[in-house]
Amino acid sequence: MLGRVGRSRPSGQGGGNLKHCANSECPGLARDGRPGEFEDRVMACLDCGGELEAGAAPEPTPAAFRELVTVYVAPNALVGNLIKSAIEADDIEVFLAGEALTGAIGELPTTAREVSVQVTPEFAERAREIAVQIEQP
Ligand SMILES: [Zn+2]
Repeated sequence: MLGRVGRSRPSGQGGGNLKHCANSECPGLARDGRPGEFEDRVMACLDCGGELEAGAAPEPTPAAFRELVTVYVAPNALVGNLIKSAIEADDIEVFLAGEALTGAIGELPTTAREVSVQVTPEFAERAREIAVQIEQP
């Protein structure tokens, strides 16, 4: 969602003037989970080069921060768990979508169900690299 967050205007702020990046697709936002904040003298966002808006950054929205990116679609839960383990070994939190009906760990599903391997956006690039390496024998 673009535009300003409807919060009361920052009137009582001490400690100098701040600007923040309002670009919802800013790399800094994806990395930090909140918009970048800069000193008043900075003219453009150091991450995306976009225009800055006056005031401190609004509070991050947890829903947007927890948005997941599918980095790999495995043909079945077995492959999905293999890739999940490999990505988790890199200290990245991994979620499998479509796995819920396949039973307990170690129990193979009778039908092959596709499983989506998902991570949070900041780890998507790294997770994709790992998944591709696992995929190739
Ligand atoms: Zn930016």
